Amino acid sequence: MNGWIGRCLRINLTEGRHNIEEIDPGLLEKFIGGRGLGARIFTDEVSPQVDPLSPENKLVFSSGPLVGTGAITGASCNVITKSALTGGLACAKMRGHFGAELKFAGFDLLIVEGKAEMPVIISIMDDKVKLTPALEYWGRTTVETEELFKNNLGDPWSARETYLVSIGPAGEKLLPLANLINDRFLPVGGAGIGAVMGSKNLKAIAVKGRHSLQVADGNRFMQVVTTLINKLNSAPLTQSMSQTGTAFLVGLCYQKGILPQNNFRRAPLPLRNIATDALNSAFALRSRGCFACPIACIKKADVKHSAYEGKGMAPTYLAIGSLGVNCGITDLTTIGMASMMCGEMGLDPVATGGTLATIMELVEKKVVTPEELKIDLRFGNGEAMVEALRLMATKKGYARRLGQGGLALAKEFGRPEVFMGVKGHSLSPFDPRAIQGMGLHFATCNYGPHHLFAYTFIDELLNVHQSLDPWEIGGKPLLVKEYQDTTAVMDSLGLCNWPLMGLKFNNYVPMVNSCLGTNYKADDLLFIGEKIWNLERMFNLKAGFDRTHDTLPERFIKEPVPDGPAEGQVSRIGEMLPEYYHLRGWNEQGEPRPETLQALNLEVGECQE
Ligand code: SF4
Repeated sequence: MNGWIGRCLRINLTEGRHNIEEIDPGLLEKFIGGRGLGARIFTDEVSPQVDPLSPENKLVFSSGPLVGTGAITGASCNVITKSALTGGLACAKMRGHFGAELKFAGFDLLIVEGKAEMPVIISIMDDKVKLTPALEYWGRTTVETEELFKNNLGDPWSARETYLVSIGPAGEKLLPLANLINDRFLPVGGAGIGAVMGSKNLKAIAVKGRHSLQVADGNRFMQVVTTLINKLNSAPLTQSMSQTGTAFLVGLCYQKGILPQNNFRRAPLPLRNIATDALNSAFALRSRGCFACPIACIKKADVKHSAYEGKGMAPTYLAIGSLGVNCGITDLTTIGMASMMCGEMGLDPVATGGTLATIMELVEKKVVTPEELKIDLRFGNGEAMVEALRLMATKKGYARRLGQGGLALAKEFGRPEVFMGVKGHSLSPFDPRAIQGMGLHFATCNYGPHHLFAYTFIDELLNVHQSLDPWEIGGKPLLVKEYQDTTAVMDSLGLCNWPLMGLKFNNYVPMVNSCLGTNYKADDLLFIGEKIWNLERMFNLKAGFDRTHDTLPERFIKEPVPDGPAEGQVSRIGEMLPEYYHLRGWNEQGEPRPETLQALNLEVGECQE
């Protein structure tokens, strides 16, 4: 096959056995691979009512057909499961090299089911699949786990070629805030997935392979890839990404009042401490790219501090927003420490930052005192935040309750309105009052309010393909639908979405066709993206979500931004939602109409009752 391998590795941890299955070519055609194929198989095999932490829940790792082929940014492996945080479908995008290595080992898909009796690590070395007892790894951080595993291989060359995804202490303790970490320090976005892996007693998965991949028309493929690389390299925004990673967004979001402070209640503090040039002087940044990516937006850094010493990922936009400014913290070293600690402990930085901001507001409102918490968690107290992170992942003291997530915490204190999230997941650090389309996306996203499932800021803030005022709502429902569908199909192909800052989606089509030997037009691919979005929506409706969950916290609807550039703005979600439903072909309850499902060639029963 071209691009695809056509094989799935299924591992049952309860029985300690595995088998290799052929993937139905009809499913590849209908759902492409990656996120689409993973979601289709997961929703077919797992009940929407399943307890996320039960052995009946599954983890599906799915690499797209372009991954590992040399297609530009073809590196993405999606992880699909039912989230321990939201209770809905979870999808996490794994960057780096793990996804390509899974293909080189001979698999598009890895399905993990059941529960091991004792902690284990799965190793996949081509067709050799092994479950190794992992008691000596249990309790270790993600960085320690990777180092120990590679040391135990006893062969430095083999260690270099082996890629791992693992959980930290947070996943072992089944904290709903837990995520996965791959390639030593890359967070796999999506809180709740780490707890699912922990519930299976699965500490890590290691993969290495030597298979080569086939593309349909090698000459044409290389020509198209070279053109795309040149185009991308000359785009100004991708140059900014290459220099400082996603942190370049900090200044732009600040100027438009999008960057939130103190649990989304204020415009941010003066920018000088957290601007891009400050990042460069705070850390000696080193670049690293995912497989076949010329941008190399991942920035590595070292932190040396009396409270912490380590190496990891330099603060990204998400870390600066969620763990920094939205907690009232602007010291980059502290943000760097917090971000690296999240990585080591296996905590999702957005959901963790949102939880800390929630408790800080509860402290400020005197709903709970620092004495009761035994940590002085006030806005701006970086030392206390670092201490809370250390305790949270070890489930000690009060921090045990923090690990349940912001919504559970706010409810415990009888103040659910203080939690700034949707469907139980904290918002990515974009104030939805100051970027209306992103607000609509947050309210309707199948995976909780995460900006990585619709890059509306490319047009609302950066004005790349069209120039839309972030504070206005005209054209936003269509923009949101288009970015959601585009993202769904790019995730399915296995492509990173960040290059959309320099390329149009149409630009990718010749690369896809020369790789796969297909004749897709852009609209055919976007149609598949729309189908995937609806499939995911159907699962969530059956899992208990409905129209009432397609909203934002009241703060954004009723309380205008108090100061800063976006002063006076509120979210106009109520005006945008009906048009969005209409464009999606959904009824007033937000349910796909039968004729919509039929037009998308999706069966009503394509998702389990
Ligand atoms: S742009 Fe960044 S995240 Fe995307 S593939 Fe390249 S290095 Fe990875």
